[in-house]
Amino acid sequence: MSIKPARTRVAPSPTGHMHLATARVALYDYLLAKKTGGQFVLRIEDTDLTRTVPGAEQEIMDGLRWLGLHYDEGPDVGGAYGPYRQTDRREIYQAHAKILVDSGHAYPCFCSPDRLEKLRQEQMKRKENPRYDGLCRSLDPDDAARRVASGEKYVIRFKMPQEGATTAHDLLRGDIVTENKQLNDYVLLKSDGLPTYHLAAMVDDHEMGITHVLRGSEWLGTFPLHVNVVRAFGWEEPLWIHLSVFLKPSGKGKLSKRDTSLAMKDGYSVFIKDMSELGFTPEGVLNWIALMGWGVAEDDVMTLDQMIDRFSVDGLTASPAAINFQKLDHFNATHIRLFTTEDLAARLKPYFAREGLNVNDETLLKIVPLIRERLVTLDDCVSFGGFFFKEDVTPVPEDLVAKGLDAKQSAQVARSAYEILAAQPDFRHEKCEPPLRAYVEESGLTANQVFGILRVAVTGQKVSPPLFESMEIIGRETCLRRIQNAIEILQRM
Ligand code: GLU
Repeated sequence: MSIKPARTRVAPSPTGHMHLATARVALYDYLLAKKTGGQFVLRIEDTDLTRTVPGAEQEIMDGLRWLGLHYDEGPDVGGAYGPYRQTDRREIYQAHAKILVDSGHAYPCFCSPDRLEKLRQEQMKRKENPRYDGLCRSLDPDDAARRVASGEKYVIRFKMPQEGATTAHDLLRGDIVTENKQLNDYVLLKSDGLPTYHLAAMVDDHEMGITHVLRGSEWLGTFPLHVNVVRAFGWEEPLWIHLSVFLKPSGKGKLSKRDTSLAMKDGYSVFIKDMSELGFTPEGVLNWIALMGWGVAEDDVMTLDQMIDRFSVDGLTASPAAINFQKLDHFNATHIRLFTTEDLAARLKPYFAREGLNVNDETLLKIVPLIRERLVTLDDCVSFGGFFFKEDVTPVPEDLVAKGLDAKQSAQVARSAYEILAAQPDFRHEKCEPPLRAYVEESGLTANQVFGILRVAVTGQKVSPPLFESMEIIGRETCLRRIQNAIEILQRM
């Protein structure tokens, strides 16, 4: 059976930093489109001018590209269904609002903000849900049209059916039935002539030929309104999928703004723009996000292509997704181990450069196999391997003193090691290691003591990649100079 190509869209509002919730919708949209040979569209929903943040739209486009979720159509790439920015589509919404007014599915409302506020206060006092009382619903349409023509301020409201019930179908949740008397006459077109989400998104999804609407579960409340709007136009409905909510990292309660800022302090983030800076890879982030609402096995490691292969909307789940940063670490580290040496080297380079280290490509290719297994985030490369690119290292004097020895004795060990290595013209690790092991035997010291002193002397740190391999890469001259320097430090102590 051939599957019909899906047209999907991610429709973020440029009101702040791109959150992983947007990335998740985009990922599933992308997978569905690619799986079925369809298209994935980016639409910018910027009709709430008071909330638009400069730069946010660019951040969304950059974020999607960084993740590798390349959209087929969008504001900066064009496409046959544009424009893809809602403020560039005003006339389309105004024309559609008029269609609904003319067909009796919507009406102009002239109520002042003052009246609406009073109404809200009274309803709150009576412990009722705030809703429009329908005053302008019963205005004579010709009178209303005259008032509009005379320049009076108005909004367009949807004339929600008042009797019966609305059944809306969600692919993950089944039929959702709502009594129509609980529904409100929502505003479709604001007094500034711009549409609300309730009109703009419905019009655009139809006009853009969207087949599957994947969106956050915060839209479940107005879902009955949306299907009524689509039906009022007489259009075919898309398939609706409301994704699961995100829970706090603890798993208790919905993710809040506060949790977001706490996460930032711990070297994690829920914003896509921070991921690269924190050393996360697109592959790790995507794999992590993929499993927050898609019921494949918890620990499935997948590249984007493998996800396309395995994806199906039936696999999506409505159960809440806890944000578990340990899993992000896990997937990031796992993908780092899957990259080729050349690929990983290219990805690590900017992190060394960020610390002012001058990276030599040949050396970098040699150290990647030595540090790869230790990396959880890409920026870990600096703490494990920064010393490879430094002219000299500055060990903490105390670290040069081996356990069970004093500074003088440690200096003596360093001197012996220096002599052994200085006598070694071939600095390959298989040549340097045996004479030093022999020295450990003869001296009655432990390998930890001897190699510990050497490690701190040569790398400047107590933890490093394998010592002899590291010394081979650093090279004979530099190693000897660093050991000499360590001897001097120990002598001064
Ligand atoms: N602009 C809406 C939002 O950012 C999009 C919802 C949707 O995908 O329909 O929440």
